[in-house]
Amino acid sequence: MNQREYLLEIKNLEKSFDNSTKVLKDFSYSVTKGEVVVILGPSGCGKSTLLRCINGLEPIQAGTILLDGQSITDGKTKWSQIRQKIGMVFQSYDLFPHMTVFENILLGPLKVQGRTREEAGLAGEKLLERVGLLEKKNAYPRQLSGGQKQRVAIVRALMMEPEIMLFDEVTAALDPEMVREVLDVILELAKGGMTMLIVTHEMQFARAIADRILFLDEGQIVESAAPEDFFGHPETERAQRFLNIFQ
Ligand code: ADP
Ligand code: MG
Repeated sequence: MNQREYLLEIKNLEKSFDNSTKVLKDFSYSVTKGEVVVILGPSGCGKSTLLRCINGLEPIQAGTILLDGQSITDGKTKWSQIRQKIGMVFQSYDLFPHMTVFENILLGPLKVQGRTREEAGLAGEKLLERVGLLEKKNAYPRQLSGGQKQRVAIVRALMMEPEIMLFDEVTAALDPEMVREVLDVILELAKGGMTMLIVTHEMQFARAIADRILFLDEGQIVESAAPEDFFGHPETERAQRFLNIFQ
């Protein structure tokens, strides 16, 4: 495949903290437009670090990351610009507590993108409606459940009209009854063709949503497979051991 057809290309990425052992080792992977990649692996294997490197939250020691064929790691493009194209949602929703839902989601479009309140407001209402939260538009974060807050956090990221979404264990801090409503929003995004990298410990969800499963261990890709292959017959002993925990 021509490399131009990849939306995101990670090439020979090396990442370590404070000159200690490498957290990501010669990491290479490419994602096509519309692809949903689920990243699995034991705690500490480098999943969050990988997403943080892609979003420019961590400096890297070597390698290149390309978005739309353009390097985002050569220091020439501002991260504030790149982050508009890469949406990220974390485990903790960090909405601004003193701002309403609507103010939270309009902040980026108005301050960073310079869009009008009218246009961004309409887009915001549409997205809130899509995640079933239009009636919470004027609520404050403290008035929402964890699942509702996380759905607002997803809307806030989508407001920037990103080309790719990164999700890092977005349901890990939620009560079990709220996990589904958040995963359903992500499933809807996948149906709409959004390109996504998803770190999760929800195995049924991973199997249902993924075009490809990446299994990481110690900062490297140990397996890269279609979900039915990975879950049906993982090739490595490390992946088998990992999956046994969830059975
Ligand atoms: P995962 O998300 O797969 O659980 P992380 O990417 O959070 O793993 O961490 C990978 C490794 O990098 C771990 O050994 C972790 O201790 C280390 N690490 C992560 N963040 C930092 C940091 N800011 N400073 C030092 N070490 C870190
Ligand atoms: Mg993590």
